[in-house]
Amino acid sequence: MAAGEGKKKAFRVGKIAIVGRPNVGKSTLLNALLGERIAIVSRHAQTTRDRIAGILTQEGVQYVFLDTPGVHSPRNRLGDRMNTVSEDASAECDVVLFLSDLTNDPKPGLSKIDQAIVAALPAGKPVILVLNKVDRLKDKTALLPVLESLGSAHSFAAIVPISALKNRGTERILAEVKDLLPKGELLFEEDELSDRPTRFFVSEFVREQILQKTREEVPHGVAVTVESFDESKKVPHIDVVIHVDKESHKPIIIGKKGSLLREVGTQARARVEELLGKHVHLAIRVRVTPGWYENERDLATLGYGSAEGRARREKETR
Ligand code: GDP
Ligand code: MG
Repeated sequence: MAAGEGKKKAFRVGKIAIVGRPNVGKSTLLNALLGERIAIVSRHAQTTRDRIAGILTQEGVQYVFLDTPGVHSPRNRLGDRMNTVSEDASAECDVVLFLSDLTNDPKPGLSKIDQAIVAALPAGKPVILVLNKVDRLKDKTALLPVLESLGSAHSFAAIVPISALKNRGTERILAEVKDLLPKGELLFEEDELSDRPTRFFVSEFVREQILQKTREEVPHGVAVTVESFDESKKVPHIDVVIHVDKESHKPIIIGKKGSLLREVGTQARARVEELLGKHVHLAIRVRVTPGWYENERDLATLGYGSAEGRARREKETR
């Protein structure tokens, strides 16, 4: 090689699927790893409906984390789709981060559900067990017998106790994963944060607010679409529709004299502005689309269709 000729940097690059039961903290972990709140989080199970890639590029390594919906027993077509998304992510990744969480009184070994999820992971891929929510343990010595028992439950590449919420232990995950990634060329530009377009995050941030402000069956019956995104103005104008399953959910989402919808709008807008680094105008309407989560065509329109259908739609509307 001639003197001064630039060497192509050797990179470790790969996809890392984050899988586990609903509510163990997968999306919180993704956000902690990236240092940006791109994935939405709530106390409700099944907050994440779709796969999101979060990209972290550091010196000599590019991590492409795949956040997935929690593995669960599906109750409808949307649920089926969510489990498929999770399986596909495990199939296409180089490393699996299998997330489980600790209770106040942790028992040794893996629970039945966790055992089933681990057993269903594709063979031959390194699996790192990430034990989340260690902040719940007052007595940290209670962790030792648990860790010991887990070491013999499966041949994990590593076991890493963390608190995603407090961002503790996440550096160790990065170090463990790095050594397991194949060498290769970058999959994304160094400054890219996600594989999803901005409008995806707009709809997710609106849905996040509804999840945080409503209860019971209301949040699960909600889908959000971006109808238009006009970037020609100095302050981009975004039109959003909240789809509800039932007529009776509409007044709940709107709130007294529109108060809930206004709050949803204000806080979602703040999240969008944080992501884009500029002001936006967000206009939200509510529409009744009954049974959208069972209807193949509605699912596709709302962005929960097959991967190919979604790619086509995103291209058309970008
Ligand atoms: P997911 O369904 O696996 O994606 O879980 P989320 O990331 O949406 O989190 C589910 C709930 O667990 C939320 O209320 C989070 O705030 C909470 N959570 C996540 N990580 C931690 C943690 O490290 N400690 C505690 N105490 N709670 C957490
Ligand atoms: Mg999630």
